[in-house]
Amino acid sequence: MTNHNFINSLKDGRNVWLNGKKVDITTDENFSGTLQTISQLYELFEDPKQQALVGYLSPQTNEWVHSAFLVPQSYEDVLKRRTAFEAWSKATDGIMSRLSDYARSRLAGWYANRERYRSFDAHFPDKISAYYETARDEHRFLSVVQRDPQVNRAEQASKDIKEAGLLAITKKTEDGVYVNGAKMIGTASPYSHDLIVYPLSKLEESRKALAHMLIVAANSPGLHMVCRESFATDPQNKTDHPLSSQYDEMDAVLIFDNVFVPWERVLLYDTPEGLAHIKADPVSNGLAYHQAIIRLLIKLEFVAAVANEIAEAIGANTYLHVQEKLGELIMQTDTIRALIIASEHEGKLINRNIFVPNFNFIQTARTLGAKYYPRSIEILQLIGAGGFIQLPSSMDDFNTPISGLLKNYFKGANIEAEKRTKLFKLAWDLIGSPLGSRHELYERFYAGDPMLNTAKQYNQYDKQEWKNSLDKYLKP
Ligand SMILES: Cc1cc2nc3c(=O)[nH]c(=O)nc-3n(C[C@H](O)[C@H](O)[C@H](O)COP(=O)(O)OP(=O)(O)OC[C@H]3O[C@@H](n4cnc5c(N)ncnc54)[C@H](O)[C@@H]3O)c2cc1C
Repeated sequence: MTNHNFINSLKDGRNVWLNGKKVDITTDENFSGTLQTISQLYELFEDPKQQALVGYLSPQTNEWVHSAFLVPQSYEDVLKRRTAFEAWSKATDGIMSRLSDYARSRLAGWYANRERYRSFDAHFPDKISAYYETARDEHRFLSVVQRDPQVNRAEQASKDIKEAGLLAITKKTEDGVYVNGAKMIGTASPYSHDLIVYPLSKLEESRKALAHMLIVAANSPGLHMVCRESFATDPQNKTDHPLSSQYDEMDAVLIFDNVFVPWERVLLYDTPEGLAHIKADPVSNGLAYHQAIIRLLIKLEFVAAVANEIAEAIGANTYLHVQEKLGELIMQTDTIRALIIASEHEGKLINRNIFVPNFNFIQTARTLGAKYYPRSIEILQLIGAGGFIQLPSSMDDFNTPISGLLKNYFKGANIEAEKRTKLFKLAWDLIGSPLGSRHELYERFYAGDPMLNTAKQYNQYDKQEWKNSLDKYLKP
């Protein structure tokens, strides 16, 4: 897949619903900026100066493929993965988080650890190997969708499967299975090639129809992707909406209306215990969330850069409390960077040949991100204050008869009016636009409920050393 055919490859009859109609995402202007951004990333694999930065040579085809597929066998391999994630994320300053490298890392992790699942399905290792190689060599764009629709969380585990809208296998044939139900939220699903679908909830044996792991083609008949409203404000206008116009990662609810999935793409079925292992897989989690925290760091660095620029532009950087807030942003980025480095240094071999970053540090960074990002946005607001509203509606206002007045009244402490306006428009896209609000919600929840994640970290922590350290005081 090259940049030339990525967009064309999405012209495949998929059912994407937006604003009351089925849309062709390859021509719909709400998707144009985002698809253009992804196409440019595909271009990196054709650029001799960039190929080795983002990719490695496929052992099958000897062509450059994304390093997210690289199964790390050493510390150096993990660093190679990091370099690719940094380059990929920097292209959008961490704003686009589901550029397939997260889902590809998940897939690489399950593939690497495939023998673990033979006892749940003897065909799992062969099926995932075949799909992994295809996805890697065809540059397939993937997304992961796990969560059940939010109908009634309190009764979800007991309610009738159909009534609760849960995704179940409803029929099995010689060729494959049919599934019905829904999933939320599929970020990037409308422009993915394949969706990796499995449940997050813990399942009892009696609900084994829900316990499946499927690779669903995004153009499967009966699969409907119902998009939220587009935040790609004014897609042709990068100057007034620099982020929204180019980086809106569309989210969708997926409705499966009797969708057929062939057996070779049914990786697991009817196995609550197998699915519990899939969710907790240390290789898949380690590789995927290593990507997620690298992307988080790039985004926090971006917010810090914007906050610093704004403080300087309005002369607020001279105030002690503003310096303290900017210092807090530096502490955020340094903390996440240190946790990334620690996770890599303290990685360990699993199955004697897969080198996985240390998950304790990764999950700490991940959970801190749910607090750090909303706080970083709050700091931007506290520094920029009313300046976010002291803006002309469009940069075009600088081309009107009153441009001389604008140049005088919209300037900053050390910055001329047009540049200051561009800066504050960029910041507004982060803090005040629909895209900005979605990002705050995303960072709070993308990895699951942060409250449950933090409690889980406590519950899984080995507390014996703490106890031992108190023995000298508490032992009789
Ligand atoms: C922008 C965005 C993009 C996303 N993209 C994806 C994606 O690509 N793929 C994907 O799979 N998921 C995605 N998600 C979904 C994400 O995984 C969930 O939002 C997250 O797991 C939280 O679940 P929920 O939203 O269903 O909240 P709910 O579980 O419905 O929680 C609602 C409220 O109830 C409380 N609550 C719920 N259950 C419990 C409980 N057991 N104990 C105590 N309190 C409880 C919660 O704390 C919260 O206050 C995305 C979410 C967002 C916001």
